[in-house]
Amino acid sequence: MHDGAPDEHKGTDLSVKAGAFIYAPSDGVWVRTGICYPGDFRYLKCVMKFNDGNRCNLLYVWPRLTKGKRFERGEVIGMAQDLSALYPCIIIHVHTEIVVRGRRVDPMEYLEAA
Ligand SMILES: [Zn+2]
Repeated sequence: MHDGAPDEHKGTDLSVKAGAFIYAPSDGVWVRTGICYPGDFRYLKCVMKFNDGNRCNLLYVWPRLTKGKRFERGEVIGMAQDLSALYPCIIIHVHTEIVVRGRRVDPMEYLEAA
């Protein structure tokens, strides 16, 4: 297990504006809020579990929920963080990972099927 920067890019980057509302893709519960990079508390990683048992990680999101809180699909669960201090030329995005039975899947396919 590691909580740090992803060593390989597995996930989908959804481009957003800094401060944009992030909506729950499914019903579930907030597992925890962590950090994207060890020792850097500016960029947050949100871990949630959907009611179907699958897991979702969202990186670069200010959470609106705390551990153990339930949410429903379509509810605002956070706000996109401003990444411009991290990478000056970066396009602001939310990195989305969906984990089904321990394996990462394409979030777009998962979300369309949901
Ligand atoms: Zn990414």
